[in-house]
Amino acid sequence: MKLLEERIIKDGRVLSEGVLKVDSFLNHQIDPQLMQAIGEEFSNYFKNKGITKIITIEASGIAPAVFAGIYLDVPVIVAKKNVGITMTDELAVADVYSFTKQTNYTISISKTFLNETDSVLIIDDFLANGQAALGLMEICEQMDVLVAGIGIVIEKSFQTGRALLEEKGMEIYSLARIKSLIDGEVEFVG
Ligand code: 5GP
Repeated sequence: MKLLEERIIKDGRVLSEGVLKVDSFLNHQIDPQLMQAIGEEFSNYFKNKGITKIITIEASGIAPAVFAGIYLDVPVIVAKKNVGITMTDELAVADVYSFTKQTNYTISISKTFLNETDSVLIIDDFLANGQAALGLMEICEQMDVLVAGIGIVIEKSFQTGRALLEEKGMEIYSLARIKSLIDGEVEFVG
């Protein structure tokens, strides 16, 4: 997606050879116009796949997921990292290793929001080693829910996530695919 690649070049900051900071439009301050274009792009790609729900993880997946939800006209479920006292329903739970925080955390989705007839699209801000997406897939498996595809805003193609998820038969659509982050420069695939 050209608009996104241009924005990454303009406002992204390479923190190391493995980490890109995009706090000014995706992870901290959010550009709603860009998120809308991203939602439309995901919708155009996945619109014929019979998607009934989108799932994502709080917090940075929410903005792109909600805009995709508007265009696909389906609900968006946010997997919670912290379970509050209002979450009294029975939960489907998975453990995830965090790439950025380098610790494990638990994600939870209330079982009331998913059922066996659902066909789910997973959306997240970044794909690194695929652990967040795997956690969401594990929850879908527990609930006997089909994962129809994975939509990623920024994929770091030099890390292991894509291969791992493709091995599990997943179709992944990434809007920007980064080949390398060497010498402070972002190089895209293709
Ligand atoms: P994975 O689970 O694929 O290893 O990592 C994906 C998650 O880690 C994303 O949800 C995102 O929050 C975070 N992440 C991974 N790599 C980066 C990065 O280079 N920059 C930022 N801002 N977040 C990242």
